[in-house]
Amino acid sequence: MTSNEHEPMGGKNPTLGQAARAFFTFHSPRIFAVMWPLLVATRLAVGDFGWADLLVVPILLAAQPFVEWLIHVYILHFKPTTVWGRKFDLQIAKFHRAHHRDPWRLELVFIPGAPAGSAWRCSPPCGSCSRPRRRWPSAASSAA
Ligand SMILES: [Zn+2]
Repeated sequence: MTSNEHEPMGGKNPTLGQAARAFFTFHSPRIFAVMWPLLVATRLAVGDFGWADLLVVPILLAAQPFVEWLIHVYILHFKPTTVWGRKFDLQIAKFHRAHHRDPWRLELVFIPGAPAGSAWRCSPPCGSCSRPRRRWPSAASSAA
């Protein structure tokens, strides 16, 4: 096997620049790349630093693994449920299940650029979801 289409960038060994370009083709890294410097600049502009400011980074670093675990277990691995005869599922959970089936597909690794509040979807469509559906990267197509 010379190349694997299921591995990032076709199984090739990308350079750091190629990997960075691939990374920033996705929505969520671009949001972080813009928001993080803006938030740091805003905090620096506000000033009035105190001892509590020194605790923010270590607290975030200490909490992150637990927050990540809670998100993973309770949101990303949310199981479809039926309420009053209607099946409810989180779109992000469907997307994450597709990621587990095909972990090397980069478009299933990053948070898709869906409008806020669109994580809840009814499956099958129940009519209460009147918002136009955004097509997520074939999470459903790899659900076979
Ligand atoms: Zn998972």
